Amino acid sequence: MTFNDNLKKYAKLIIEKCLNIKEGDFLVIRGQAENREFINLLTETAFMSGARDVKVNYRDEVFSKIRYKYASLDTVSEVPEHFIMEQNFYMDKSAKFLSLTGEDPNLLKDIPADKIKASTIAFSKALKDFNNRMMNSENSWCVAGAAVPSWAKTVFPDLDEKEATLKLWELIFYTSRADLEDPVAAWEKHTYTLKRHSKFLNQHQFDYFIIKSDNGTNLKVGMPKNYIFEGASEYDSHGNEFIANIPTEEVFSLPHKDRIDGIVYNTKPLNYNGALIDDFYLRFKDGQVVDFDATIGYEVLKNLLETDEGSKSLGEIAFVPYDSPISNTGILFYNTLYDENASCHIALGKAYPTCLKGGEDMDVESLKKEGANDSLIHVDFMIGDKTTNVIGVKDNGEKIDIFKDGNFAF
Ligand code: ZN
Ligand code: ZN
Repeated sequence: MTFNDNLKKYAKLIIEKCLNIKEGDFLVIRGQAENREFINLLTETAFMSGARDVKVNYRDEVFSKIRYKYASLDTVSEVPEHFIMEQNFYMDKSAKFLSLTGEDPNLLKDIPADKIKASTIAFSKALKDFNNRMMNSENSWCVAGAAVPSWAKTVFPDLDEKEATLKLWELIFYTSRADLEDPVAAWEKHTYTLKRHSKFLNQHQFDYFIIKSDNGTNLKVGMPKNYIFEGASEYDSHGNEFIANIPTEEVFSLPHKDRIDGIVYNTKPLNYNGALIDDFYLRFKDGQVVDFDATIGYEVLKNLLETDEGSKSLGEIAFVPYDSPISNTGILFYNTLYDENASCHIALGKAYPTCLKGGEDMDVESLKKEGANDSLIHVDFMIGDKTTNVIGVKDNGEKIDIFKDGNFAF
């Protein structure tokens, strides 16, 4: 298989399988200017699948960095009205949204943390309604990886830029199963496995999970009544099936925001808005972070936790086996889409309402009452390794092994 064959198969997998583009669909693609050729290939594939129109929003990471450097805090915190209107315009048209991820993990390391924080909060507030609709799966959406040289050089510092980028693309094909003979068939089989795991977790309706690892992690995560574990594909409000992440190895749900206790250590670095946080722990009491520390990125973590009321609690718990394609590469991607799918993880901030039975029809207050956390942020970080054990405890005290030595026990 040549590089171009694999790239075509990957584009087809995203457009036809993940986003399920059909006659008359609108598609919005967000991606880096560096990926122009790939974006054009995606656009063509979408039109060939019957798309009515494709809208591309290019980003340029070097431009972003320059702007962050020179523009004032007030300027970077200003969100133009037309930007919000455009997002809502496509949401109202039931457009499907594709976001390509792949950027320099250290891009903003020299930019003052308060500027990044102010800008992030301003955009999260301005797009709160839009983001809520997205997290409610009103329309189909997908996040997929696309290699760019700055990212590739971080993953493979010893290779030259061209070799590194090619190697990263190969890994993107491999981890998304796009380089197999029949990627669609492979995804059907993979989906079946993920659905089997989520079904088991849903049928048992555990009261809480105990997560323990050799690094000292000892976390009790209470679950709300009627939680739903999701995995692989889901349905949007118009009845379209879609895959929100490619690759995806996780089954995930929401913890009860007031019932999280204990300590958790990260097992992979967290890249948050172009800055790395690593070697950190969070200590929880009654669902809130009451103590934390980080060897790398302490200020970034502090800012993140202080975003709002809900940023000190959790909105996601996800199980990912240690034996999975991404994890087996042994490579650290410095990109959450890949690293979170190589490890059990939890997320600070907002919970997906779809992880609660009937949650997509509840307002924020009802969701909170049921235990779903609300926040402007949703930031995943990795807590699993090959020593991770998880036990599920039911209302009647019955204990069932969920994870043994990093992998599913059932
Ligand atoms: Zn997740
Ligand atoms: Zn998440």
